[in-house]
Amino acid sequence: MKKLYITMIGLAFLNGLCYTVQAQKKPVAVSATDKKVDALIAKMSLEEKVGQMTEVTSDVVSKSGGGAHELDPDKLKEAIMKYHVGSILNVTGTAYERSHWYDVISQIQKAADQDRLKIPVIYGIDAIHGVTYTVGSTLFPQEIALAATFNKSLAHKMGEITAYETRASYIPWNYSPVLDLGRSALWPRIYETLGEDPYVVKTMGAEIIKGYQGNDVGDKYHVAACMKHYLGYSFPLSGKDRTPSWIPDRYMREYFLPSFAEAVKAGAKTLMINSGEINGVPVHASKYLLTDVLRGELHFDGIAVTDWRDIQYLHDRHHVAATQKDAVMIAVNAGVDMSMVPYDYTFYTYLIELVKEGKVSIARVNEAVHRILKVKYELGLFERPVGNPDDYPKFGSDEFRQASVQAANEAITLLKNNNHVLPLKKDIKVLVTGPTANTMRSLDGGWSYTWQGDLSDKFAAGKNTILEAIQQKIGKDNVTYAAGASFDSLQNIDETVKAAKNADAIVLCLGELSYTENVGNIDDLNLPGAQTQLALELAKTGKPVILVLAEGRPRIVTDAESKSAATIMAYLSGNEGGDAIAGVLFGDVNPSGRLSITYPRYPNALVNYYRKNLENGNPDDKHGYNPLYEFGYGLSYTTFSYSNLQISKPELKDNETLTISVDVKNTGQMEGKESVLLYISQLYASIAPDTKRLRAFDKISLKPGETKTVTFKITPKDLAFVNDVSKTVTEAGAFKIQLGDQTQSFNYVSAKDQPSRTGRL
Ligand code: BGC
Repeated sequence: MKKLYITMIGLAFLNGLCYTVQAQKKPVAVSATDKKVDALIAKMSLEEKVGQMTEVTSDVVSKSGGGAHELDPDKLKEAIMKYHVGSILNVTGTAYERSHWYDVISQIQKAADQDRLKIPVIYGIDAIHGVTYTVGSTLFPQEIALAATFNKSLAHKMGEITAYETRASYIPWNYSPVLDLGRSALWPRIYETLGEDPYVVKTMGAEIIKGYQGNDVGDKYHVAACMKHYLGYSFPLSGKDRTPSWIPDRYMREYFLPSFAEAVKAGAKTLMINSGEINGVPVHASKYLLTDVLRGELHFDGIAVTDWRDIQYLHDRHHVAATQKDAVMIAVNAGVDMSMVPYDYTFYTYLIELVKEGKVSIARVNEAVHRILKVKYELGLFERPVGNPDDYPKFGSDEFRQASVQAANEAITLLKNNNHVLPLKKDIKVLVTGPTANTMRSLDGGWSYTWQGDLSDKFAAGKNTILEAIQQKIGKDNVTYAAGASFDSLQNIDETVKAAKNADAIVLCLGELSYTENVGNIDDLNLPGAQTQLALELAKTGKPVILVLAEGRPRIVTDAESKSAATIMAYLSGNEGGDAIAGVLFGDVNPSGRLSITYPRYPNALVNYYRKNLENGNPDDKHGYNPLYEFGYGLSYTTFSYSNLQISKPELKDNETLTISVDVKNTGQMEGKESVLLYISQLYASIAPDTKRLRAFDKISLKPGETKTVTFKITPKDLAFVNDVSKTVTEAGAFKIQLGDQTQSFNYVSAKDQPSRTGRL
């Protein structure tokens, strides 16, 4: 195969015309769009081709000091006419009105129309939990909260609505979803992920993509998705953003690759590359990951765009390229199609030189340009470079808001409820306190109206903070507010304690202020001491403390939490999060969220639920997996009982399907939703099996007394793991099923060759 690949590249290089020859790719049918693309490429000069591969920020074409998005006609002309740039990305600035976006995108596309070949520009933006940068858009919970709903249709809906509102802002390309595995609690981008479980990430991620792209990505309501950040971005050894990772190939394939493989199957049009390095190799320089695995194994044929300035970082940060020009050569030869440069035209200049010098083949350039132009055609940009303002009556509508309300309601996760202290009665006096109680920043998080989410209180002023939502729910007269502490220091503690003594219950809102990327790096997962101190002082009053955690990652709260009567994990639940929390506190919403990530008890015990056996055979070992709350945990105001776990056969054979069913009954007094999580563990395998793995889930709604049968279908493929030679296999043997408190066993019997039980190191 390797030899064939070299021959193909060689041929392509020689004649420079084999645009549709793609390295290590399965032969694909040439579509009508491919033909159009090839016809256009045949007319293009090298400069025009390299321009398509260049992405600069909106700053580059804007007036300096004149405010973001005040386009500078001369700079825009230079970008388009001189450098033929194919893409512009949004960066600085804040949220704008739709009319402003119309002007900006129209100006850009009009400029593109002046260029010889009239190729539209593709504008990209981070609309990662709804449309970040348009005033009045529908902001959803962040992905970590969306995952906690365990509701696939909500993920789909979020994608659909976000696509609609992105197109309503005249933008066709969304740098979302984040498909990185939320595997390291310290990492500042945990909130952007769908949590720690590979199955949840791949399943919910694919739903978001299908929502973004619909059946026709080119219609006026859908956008191109961008799965990111390929691959292994979320597991830096230091826990800090964009720092090195050490991830063995087997481990990478088992946990980090499946979400991207599934996204390719879901049809994702584009992909963004991980800014970090893995085992010493920056991913932007890895031909293995960018070509062999991505194209050769996953058969991805869309655009691979770099992340921010990452080709330049091959020289500046990673030191694998002695010069900036070498950096361009390495990245493009590794498989990069588009460079988010982002501030200058050096990529353009160097790449042209490199092609002329024979250091990058014209075939590689044609291949990249083919992918870029194909997505532009598929998005309908040639016919409709700018949308019609009247086509989007549902932008920011109540219908869309309701979806965000439902997502927030289903995300909120009740972790503790001693003596049924919740729901609270509405005629009581409540003290609301803590640093996250009265700011939208702690509900929306980063990527909300601005990059850092620092203007959410201004742009989401019409939405309710936790305090405002509680005031609305039970009347202002019943609510006292005292901050008690900022994020890291006590404030008016005496006054706050006094207010607590006069209240019937204390709603203590702790957590984090908004942050994004490296700005959110921390050295200590513990919640800042002042917040814990506030909790301990309030607990001394003897009044019930209801702890509400509004945070992007599971900060250690063990001491504070030990004093709470009830605990609610609110994550970053978005613009409707305040109302959702108040709804749960006072019983208008029955909580149904489940933790999408393990909540650690100690800062140095950060283990995921699908760990290997840590307990050394002793299930009571407190130094094994002993989190504060386990992945998948979450309470309800009603109770559910599981019974009658049935399997269709005791032995599963090759090419067969095992049907697993269980009856779930609402045994309480209130209607409620239940996430039914199917875990399966293999008892013995050629490499140490994970203690358990989520293999399927479903969410059902049950009235009091109602019973539903939930059915799952499992094939041998669903039980596969990556073995010691990086092959995905299902090994014969015994498996244990766990559904609620029900367990069952079955055997997988295979006619295929079975590996020896002693793996290689
Ligand atoms: C982030 C990406 C984002 C890009 C463009 C980068 O710094 O890592 O997730 O899509 O900026 O805004």
